[in-house]
Amino acid sequence: MSSRVLMMGNDAIARGLVENGCAVATSYPGTPASEILPAVVKWKKELSLPLHAQWAVNEKIAFEIAFAGSIAGLRTMVSMKQVGLNVAADPLLSAAYMGVKGGFIVICADDPGPHSSQTEQDSRLMAMFAKVPVLDPSTPREAKEFIALAYELSEAFEVPVLLRPTTRVCHASQDIALGDLLRIERNGGFRKEPTRWAATPKFRLLLHRGLNDKLKAMAVYPQTAPRLLSPGVTAKKAVVTSGVAAAHTKEIMDDLHLRDSCAVYQVLQPYPLHTDFMRTLLGTYDEILVLEETTGVIEMQLADRSKVRGKMSGAVPEAGELLPEHIERIIADFTGASAETAAPPPAAAGRRPSLCPGCPHRASFFAIKKAIPHSRSIYTSDIGCYTLGLNLGAIDTALCMGASVSQAAGFYHAYRQMGKETDIVATIGDSTFFHAGIPALIDAVVQDARFVLVVLDNSTTAMTGNQPTPATGIGACGDVTGKISIEGLVKSCGVAFCKEGNPYRVPHFVALLKEAREHSRTHGLAVVIARYPCLMDKRSKEERLPAVAVAISEECDGCGYCTKEFECPALEPDEAAKKVRINRILCTGCGVCLHVCPKRSIEGVERA
Ligand code: SF4
Ligand code: SF4
Repeated sequence: MSSRVLMMGNDAIARGLVENGCAVATSYPGTPASEILPAVVKWKKELSLPLHAQWAVNEKIAFEIAFAGSIAGLRTMVSMKQVGLNVAADPLLSAAYMGVKGGFIVICADDPGPHSSQTEQDSRLMAMFAKVPVLDPSTPREAKEFIALAYELSEAFEVPVLLRPTTRVCHASQDIALGDLLRIERNGGFRKEPTRWAATPKFRLLLHRGLNDKLKAMAVYPQTAPRLLSPGVTAKKAVVTSGVAAAHTKEIMDDLHLRDSCAVYQVLQPYPLHTDFMRTLLGTYDEILVLEETTGVIEMQLADRSKVRGKMSGAVPEAGELLPEHIERIIADFTGASAETAAPPPAAAGRRPSLCPGCPHRASFFAIKKAIPHSRSIYTSDIGCYTLGLNLGAIDTALCMGASVSQAAGFYHAYRQMGKETDIVATIGDSTFFHAGIPALIDAVVQDARFVLVVLDNSTTAMTGNQPTPATGIGACGDVTGKISIEGLVKSCGVAFCKEGNPYRVPHFVALLKEAREHSRTHGLAVVIARYPCLMDKRSKEERLPAVAVAISEECDGCGYCTKEFECPALEPDEAAKKVRINRILCTGCGVCLHVCPKRSIEGVERA
């Protein structure tokens, strides 16, 4: 087969996985990696592949399932975003020592910028920390090609291999050649080897030494050696680049007519950096410019930095994406070429990001502010689309997955130490609750921390594209799975007060929150499950309430309370009329705004 198809980077990665015999694919959703697993599932179905694909409850679990598949001899992969690798860091570091059998690729998509992440951390640095090799594709096509390379490397050296695409690779599109499927028959199964797979500290030292030896060998492995993109050039200056920066650099060198006067190298494997390459680079060139996102991983491996310009010398910014206009300016400074950099286009005016019209989270946040006012409370929250509750003044903290619960407990203990009292409301999404909220809840119960925990249960992982949660009962392939009850979990964690409410029924939900607050003040932790399906999730259409028609009455004086405190995008200021108006295209008819206007100027109307 050899046809070409226009594909997004994540689809290309998925295609590379199935072409190269991946038999177990696991993931926890996180932008920019979320589309990889669904694309694997699409190919699995289209090609009737006997492949196990699943969303896991968090990245650590996803990693461990795929790792087990690998040590049983299969080719496997786990995908996640860069902050997900923090969650999976524990098994990653041990898996590096133990090594693998079947090829094991850890796909960790980085988000320089950052566009949708808490941090713009560089997973190549994590690879260095874990002592595993990392490949850095510059385009969707390369990302697919690197899957084959990663499996080859992983099996040649029996190590997990990190593939690190960045947002621009994951979400860019390119025409991709479809290759044949590699048929791999593997029936070996797991071979018991306790000194390796269940190694105690004495054996870990031996495994660590073995890993160091592998790293030395990988640093001279010809297949992953840097590519000289300017053969035949005899220059005293060299540009060394990797990832998306390499794709931009290639074009800019052409635009500035520098191909004949400056050597350009693309590093495929930033760690371990090839030893011969380092020797050649430092021995041949007088000046070396290193262009890489986001941390100076290549740069820091170049021991003699007297010739090197990069992040550490201040020539290259140490944070943010390296956009083409930045790279053009840096290369022009380095080479002395004149660059006619076009001014960046003016930022488009627009509304700040907001929860969708009719989003049940907006209703929950509004009710929380009503029931347990901000001025006398601390609002901790978490990572998900509901982090946009920040705009509504309903979030004071958002640290990392699961931290809303542990931070709420931390505030409770801190205030108690100081002899002070405050109400504390933690908000967490359903998927995040399963991901990292449960251990924090157990700890809060054991330590008798007192606060209100609102689980924002919209029956999906909304932020990353509506993947199922353990409570959904549907698997990655659309199969029926086991179902976990959030109420059951909360109660078995020892929480006596656990009640469910529909945030669209605002008065009832406010009353429920007040009841929970009283319980938290006098008895202990109270959990409220705010349950209403995400409007973007097509699976849950039949669970929604009938739409309500709303209108703005003549009494509206345009005070702006509803647009500022509630911020439904369907409520628009009408400057000329000094009122607000309903944008009928955006309005979902949730009816929540009927409870928002203090002057009752938003009314329900008969549908025409
Ligand atoms: S609808 Fe009510 S809250 Fe909104 S601007 Fe008019 S009067 Fe103010
Ligand atoms: S009914 Fe009100 S709150 Fe709901 S989407 Fe329409 S304008 Fe927004």
